Order: sequence, then structure tokens, then C-alpha cells
Amino acid sequence: MFDWLIVGAGFAGSVLAERIASQRGESVLIVDRRNHVGGNAYDRFDKAGLLMHQYGPHIFHTNAKSIFDHLSKFTAWRPYEHRVLAEVDGQLLPIPINLDTVNKLYGLSLQEEDVEAFFASKAETVPEIRTSEDVVVSRVGRELYEKFFQGYTRKQWGVDPSQLDKSVTARVPVRTNRDDRYFGDTFQFMPLDGYTRMFETMLAHPRIKVMLQTDYRDVRDIIPHKRLIFTGPVDEYFDYRFGRLPYRSLAFEHVTLEREWHQPVAVVNYPQTQAYTRVTEYKHLTGQVHPHTTLTYEYPRASGDPYYPIPMEANAQLYKRYEALARATPDVWFVGRLATYRYYNMDQVVGQALATFERIQSGVPSTARQPEMVVA
Ligand code: FAD
Ligand code: UDP
Repeated sequence: MFDWLIVGAGFAGSVLAERIASQRGESVLIVDRRNHVGGNAYDRFDKAGLLMHQYGPHIFHTNAKSIFDHLSKFTAWRPYEHRVLAEVDGQLLPIPINLDTVNKLYGLSLQEEDVEAFFASKAETVPEIRTSEDVVVSRVGRELYEKFFQGYTRKQWGVDPSQLDKSVTARVPVRTNRDDRYFGDTFQFMPLDGYTRMFETMLAHPRIKVMLQTDYRDVRDIIPHKRLIFTGPVDEYFDYRFGRLPYRSLAFEHVTLEREWHQPVAVVNYPQTQAYTRVTEYKHLTGQVHPHTTLTYEYPRASGDPYYPIPMEANAQLYKRYEALARATPDVWFVGRLATYRYYNMDQVVGQALATFERIQSGVPSTARQPEMVVA
């Protein structure tokens, strides 16, 4: 009999497995239906010997020192500040939109103090900012919105930004200076030996057993356990009782080129052309020195593995019904991006897992309402 069965060996499941085993001394069986640990953050060396991310680029960034410190127990880090260019009107321009983006796009030579007035002259008045369109047009106007956001968002999510919650495009800031970093967080790093190695270190505890290629649905009745942590899709746990929660999927095309470099930065976004949204070149992230280079092209899909919860009102309503079921299920904790249907970054999932552990430690039942979690 295991004290705990944990479904999913991604950030949510692995962080909790380690805490429970090392701090409570209880036994944990962690199962994952994939053939590896790490969830969507899994990385591996490909045939050419290049370290790549099987499920698209993962860059660690956080403002929460406690989260950075926690993960630092399991990995050393490589400082890395992420930079992204967008191909717009045939040029490669910095995204987030900044002073250089505007100057290069329009052939201007605005200074930092001019650009706020430039945005203000273009911005549309939006009485209440509700959607992903509102966020951008109210800040930089319709033209920049159409060039940088509308096409990309339609491709990525399969709906127009006017149908999506404001939180989606609000992830990308607008800057009036020349800062071309994608994230503004205090801590920006890549795990020195990769994510998978970090997960292996986290799970290398004698009280943790890992079973891969094992679907919870096949073993739930045959593996005796006292309590359960579920980090898969919440609608799947409840056999889609209220219908399917929509998740956005991606197809990844991994390509190795027999030349040293392909593009000037780790990620190039394609908001106006191509069926793919972005191209990632891993050597920029990993710092690996190699005569060849591996890239990933991301093609958004309506079906396939669930990667993104889709932040729209109707989906939030449907999720609330599942959340109510989850709260009525004793001794089962729902944690992570799929199980709580939140568009969380890695640090937020780690924060949610650590907060869940604190609740377990203080004897709060799994059926108690979870406080809203905000990190970053
Ligand atoms: P997951 O990593 O999805 O892990 C859940 C695991 O549960 C999976 O391995 C799955 O196989 C397993 N599972 C599900 N159901 C079952 C079942 N029935 N039985 C057995 N196993 C099951 N975040 C960042 O901070 N920075 C980034 O740059 C970044 N880039 C991203 C790029 C892409 C393309 C994607 C899709 C996400 C990105 N993220 C990024 C988000 C990051 O991937 C997530 O925040 C994090 O991986 C979520 O961890 P999790 O444990 O909640 O879920
Ligand atoms: N986005 C966009 N154009 C870009 C970059 C982002 O329209 O060049 C929008 C798009 O809707 C995207 C969202 O902003 O899904 C969030 O971007 P982020 O890079 O955070 O997406 P993720 O890395 O989570 O896929």
C-alpha cells in the first residue's frame, strides 16, 4: 500500500512527490503515461547530440525567490535572458514591442520620451478592457495589433483575440525603452544540465517509485493507495461528465540542420505568414557548442495532447463545474496546469505545488477551497 499515488511526473507531480517523501517520510508512487519524467518540460539529447525540448521551448523565469531557491536544490543554473524577434512586413523586429520595434518598422528615430506619445496617438479608447484584442488596441492601436498579435493569436488559439480573455495577450508587455528581453523577471535561468536531469534528481528519493508508460485509468483500481494527487486533465478524471474542457494542442516538427546557426535569437515568431507560430533554435537557450543545430516548428492544433487551457468565459464556467466536483472528492488533490485549468508558467505550477504541500502539512482537507494563487 502506497501512502500516495501521484498521477503525472511534470512539475506539479514531481515537486509534490519530493516534498512528501523527504518531509513527511511517506511512500509515493508516481505514474505517467508518457515514457519519461518532466511533463511538458522534458528535454533530451537528439540523434545529433543536441539538447532539445520535445514539447517546445521552456525558459524558466520567476520573481519568486522562494520558488527559485526550491528548484536550486535540484539543479545548478545557466543565466539566460530570452530574446524573441517577430517577422513582420519582411523584417525581424523585437517583440515585446519596444522603441526599436517602432523605429525599425516605420523608419523613424523616436527617442524614449517620444514613444509614449506615439502609442497614445494610435491607441483606441476601450471603455472596459475584457479581451485580448482590447489589451493591445488600447495600448498601441490597431495597426500594431494587426501586425504583431491578431494573426499569431488566431493561429495559436483558433479564435480571434476578441474572443479570448485579456490575460492571454497581457502576458506580452509593451515597452517604451530599448529593453528587448521577453521577460522582465528577477530570476531568468536555464537548468544547467537540462530539465530532465533536474527532475531525475528531484525524484531520486528511496521513498519515491516512478512508473512510466502507465495510465492512471488502467491502474487506479489495482494499485492500493491512501491518497491521490492528480495532475492530468480534470475533465478526464471525471470521465468528461459535463463534456470536454477545450485544450489547445500543438504538433512539433523537430529538424536538425548541418550548419552551425539558423537564426539570430532562440525564438522567431511568425504573426503574418506560415502555418507555424514560431521557430526555436535550442543552442541559444542551452549554450551548447556544436557544429549542427536543432530547431522546432510549432503548428497549433485543435486536437491532440492537451497543452494549453483556453482562457474564454464559457470554458471558465465549465471548469467551475469540474472544480466543484473536485472539491467534493475527499483525499484527492488536483494540482497543475491541466488539473486546475490555468494557463500557468512553470514557476506558477511549482508555487501551486508548494502551497498544496503546505496545506497537506497543516491538515487542511483536499475538499477545502483553494486560495487563489498569484505568483510573478
Ligand atoms: P504537465 O507538464 O503537463 O505534466 C502532467 C503530466 O501528467 C504529463 O506528463 C502527462 O503525461 C501526465 N498525465 C496526464 N494524465 C495522465 C494519466 N491519466 N495517467 C498518467 N499520466 C498522466 N512555462 C514557462 O514557465 N516557461 C516557458 O518558456 C514555457 N514554455 C512552454 C511552451 C509550450 C509549448 C508549452 C505547452 C508550455 C510551456 N510552458 C512554459 C508551461 C509549462 O509547460 C507548464 O507550466 C508546466 O510544464 C506544467 O506542469 P504540470 O505538472 O502542471 O503539467
Ligand atoms: N502573442 C502574439 N504575438 C506574439 C507573441 C505572443 O499574438 O508575437 C500572443 C498570442 O496570443 C500568445 C500570447 O500572446 O498565445 C502569449 O504569448 P506567450 O509567448 O506567452 O505564449 P506561450 O509561450 O505560452 O505559448
